[in-house]
Amino acid sequence: MDITDIYDKFDQIGCLTFATIDNGIPQTRIAHLFAHDHEGLYFRTMITKPFYEQLKKTEKVSICGMFPKTSVSHNEDGMPYFAPGYTIRATGVIKEISLETLKEKAGSNEMFMLGVKDIEKYPAMTTFCMHKAWGEIYDFDFEMEHRSHKLLRTGFCFGGAVIPFRGVRITDECISCGDCYEGCSFKAISQDNEHFVIDHSKCDVCGDCYTVCPANAIEIVIG
Ligand code: SF4
Ligand code: SF4
Repeated sequence: MDITDIYDKFDQIGCLTFATIDNGIPQTRIAHLFAHDHEGLYFRTMITKPFYEQLKKTEKVSICGMFPKTSVSHNEDGMPYFAPGYTIRATGVIKEISLETLKEKAGSNEMFMLGVKDIEKYPAMTTFCMHKAWGEIYDFDFEMEHRSHKLLRTGFCFGGAVIPFRGVRITDECISCGDCYEGCSFKAISQDNEHFVIDHSKCDVCGDCYTVCPANAIEIVIG
């Protein structure tokens, strides 16, 4: 995926949750991305807001959103039902962009003109670029209405970031009993002769394999 693909996925959602750290305490607010180019993803805030101070202090932000529905309904068993869709998140490093730079960008990319006009209207407004980030699209169809597995994860990164591995994996302690394969409702485990392998693009890290494994052969990797 390139930055345009990533932007389009966020833009389809519109309002996004932006998370920062304020003196060790997580803080969130709703904002949106308004432009992208080869350098990254762009958003705005005002220099008078706590959001601005947190961005300047940490130079980091995490963004996420969900499409197409964020409300939760329930099936006849009272269990939550999520219509097929996706969530997307990106975590990375940001830098403030000057009005002059924004105007230069607006000369060749109309998307940036909105930012210029907004700053002209609200002088306390400023622009940030997320220029180094990694993230993931979590495409879900939990009831398998349109395909034969529940989940498809697509990782992405840009600006020199790498995607860290977090999840579960099968270690050499495996005795090939097949219990995890039978128990994985996400169909993320496959068998190759005596070996069982987790497809991380389909794995929800739900832990069912971890709890069922008789050999403690499932390792949790948290970072
Ligand atoms: S449940 Fe544990 S021992 Fe059995 S196949 Fe899976 S990883 Fe291997
Ligand atoms: S954590 Fe859940 S989804 Fe992932 S392989 Fe184990 S049982 Fe399947």
